[in-house]
Amino acid sequence: MTTVLITGASSGLGAAFARGFAAKGCDLVLVARDTGRLQATATALTAEFGIGCEVLTADLLDPVQCGRVANRLADPARPVGILVNNAGFGLPAPFPYNPVEDEERMLDLLVKVPLKLTHAIVPGLRERRRGAVLNVSSVAGLLPTGTYGAAKAWLTAFSESLRVDLAPYGVRVLAVVPGFTRTEFQERAGMDLSALPASYWLEADAVVARALKDLGLHRPLSITGWRYRAYAAAVRHLPRTLVATRMARTRRPPAA
Ligand code: NAP
Repeated sequence: MTTVLITGASSGLGAAFARGFAAKGCDLVLVARDTGRLQATATALTAEFGIGCEVLTADLLDPVQCGRVANRLADPARPVGILVNNAGFGLPAPFPYNPVEDEERMLDLLVKVPLKLTHAIVPGLRERRRGAVLNVSSVAGLLPTGTYGAAKAWLTAFSESLRVDLAPYGVRVLAVVPGFTRTEFQERAGMDLSALPASYWLEADAVVARALKDLGLHRPLSITGWRYRAYAAAVRHLPRTLVATRMARTRRPPAA
């Protein structure tokens, strides 16, 4: 049975991916910083689905701990067939108001960590001629929306090109492109989205169900909900400067 390694599996979309793959009978390796939450998820999924589930506690922003996760992905004795690069966070304020250290941490987690982990798993996938990499990007990456959006644009473009590079080996690459999803993301980032209409919100399980379906159909991108699919199609035809100006209105400087 395929083993799936999921980063950021302690909450939100990562926990939903864990449940989605467990329901398919996959064994799991769950990665995040909070051992207690990972262990609770592992215990529940093992009891419900009879799968094998490892907990690998790691702060992916620590090079040594990230290296341990990369080593697990590259271990030929315990092959991992699917990597889900999901761990991430956002910042509350626009770029000019954030400490540069916070910007660097966000860029590292959203870009450098998926790059490193993907590089670790790819040789084994190519050799075994099967498997997949799922990169959890964002609709924010379709637009000029600050440094978070810029990082997610990198992840989507990376996924689209890697998909072509790995297709001859039978390895799939999917960019998962969620819109606003009910997780801990907004609260952790200190964002107040109480004014966002209810119809914009997605459930994490729906994003995962769509992603697993799109993976099965060999699609390059997975976008949940007709509203976000229409949005993704529309923004391709709008002038970037107009979009950048409109989107800047959604990023508020912090209160003085
Ligand atoms: P979430 O509930 O806050 O989950 C974030 C996960 O990342 C947690 O499991 C957290 O676990 C882990 N994480 C954070 N920093 C980490 C670090 N340094 N090392 C290891 N793990 C770390 O948010 P979510 O919405 O599920 O976010 C998952 C992904 O979806 C992110 O990449 C996010 O950018 C993307 N996304 C979210 C939305 C949305 O509206 N929610 C929309 C588009 C895209 P620990 O705290 O235990 O480490």
